[in-house]
Amino acid sequence: MKKEDLVKMRQDHVPRGVSQALPAMVAEAKGAMVRDVEGREFIDFSGGIGVLNVGHSPDEVVKAICDQAGKYLHTCFMVQMYEPYIALAKEVSELVSRKTSMKTMFVNSGAEAVENGIKIARYYTKKPGVICFENAFHGRTAMTMSLTSKVKNYKFGYWPFMPEVYRVPYAYCYRCSYGLKYPSCNIYCADFIQEKFFDLYAAAESIGAMIVEPVQGEGGFIVPPKEYLGKLQKICRDNKIVLVVDEVQTGFARTGKMFAYEYSIDEPDLLITAKSLAAGLPLGGITGKAEIMDSVDAGGIGGTFGGNPVCCAAGLAVMKILKEKKLAERANEIGKKVMAKFQSFKEKYPYVGDVRGLGAMNCMEIVADKKNPKPNADLTKAIVKQCYDKGLIILTAGGYGNVIRHLVPLVVTDEQLDKGLRILEGVMAEKVE
Ligand SMILES: *Cc1c(COP(=O)(O)O)cnc(C)c1O
Repeated sequence: MKKEDLVKMRQDHVPRGVSQALPAMVAEAKGAMVRDVEGREFIDFSGGIGVLNVGHSPDEVVKAICDQAGKYLHTCFMVQMYEPYIALAKEVSELVSRKTSMKTMFVNSGAEAVENGIKIARYYTKKPGVICFENAFHGRTAMTMSLTSKVKNYKFGYWPFMPEVYRVPYAYCYRCSYGLKYPSCNIYCADFIQEKFFDLYAAAESIGAMIVEPVQGEGGFIVPPKEYLGKLQKICRDNKIVLVVDEVQTGFARTGKMFAYEYSIDEPDLLITAKSLAAGLPLGGITGKAEIMDSVDAGGIGGTFGGNPVCCAAGLAVMKILKEKKLAERANEIGKKVMAKFQSFKEKYPYVGDVRGLGAMNCMEIVADKKNPKPNADLTKAIVKQCYDKGLIILTAGGYGNVIRHLVPLVVTDEQLDKGLRILEGVMAEKVE
């Protein structure tokens, strides 16, 4: 079907609330490349929003999907068990810790994984309160929308929100909520929780969970100081709070380690995964200390489709690719190149206020100018649109829509990566006033 006919049909039959940043209409995709219905080629720096760390449609994953589809598509794990679920639970649990016994359950999405993480933490602690952070993104369902920070268009109008959700500032050093500077601040934003929050907002005895992204994703690729997560973990341990680490976007080699928490802490209490877990098939995971996971009574957690056998078979193939292709190491190589380029943009262009990154999760914050770091969402949008016109798909992020983020599949070739960065450079250069 022709592109304009498809666009018309989409407008007639799909609601506008499910919006697109770019008018791309895909025909096929492989690795880091996408071809659209008009035969145009794109380099994909979006990776389906961090879902495609192993690339578009890897042969091994496609084969695993087809093999599994030929055997059985569904039984419901709560009715009849099957090997792919159990084998993937073992794989992921052992990735998270080999010294502490971990267990994993599967659901259908990141949001559903977060929901279950909160359910389990509340049941285990018998405490209702949840601490979350400014600029956090945890999903769009009732509980996860309540945990998400950005108001428009994620929350405004969709009230009421879940009770017992408390929000505190994140270690967003470029725009510190307290107007402090790292390192002289001594990470006050974490100390604040122990020193003030428990007295002035909610008692520690009523807080069951703290949910945090080790690098904030949708909120603007915000990389906190390395010690930050450790400080949060200590607060959680001192106050019997379950530390729920949301690695839906940072997980599976993106940040240069299998999980981003590895830079800061030994292990989380609960780990939330989804996005790159199954190369695009819908699968989310909750991995946690056996003591916490098994505190839930039989029948307390689950779902009809959760841990679908085809999705789990895809997940097993993904785990193999991540290890065999050493994609965590590759993420660091890619990240080095991208950060060097972004740094050069920051030096050259007054409207690049900050560049940040961990592994191959990198961003630039687009501002009015260096002395006036007012977010410049219009310019950000224009850059992304012009990249698209020149054959590069790249996304924005951030509470103010002024962050350009890089999430290329980690199987990208050097040639493709260079070409993508050249397109971006050309667009950035044109924007100099
Ligand atoms: C995308 C995302 C989610 C939500 O995942 P969905 O599969 O879209 O429900 C949750 N947490 C983080 C950190 C994410 O990036």
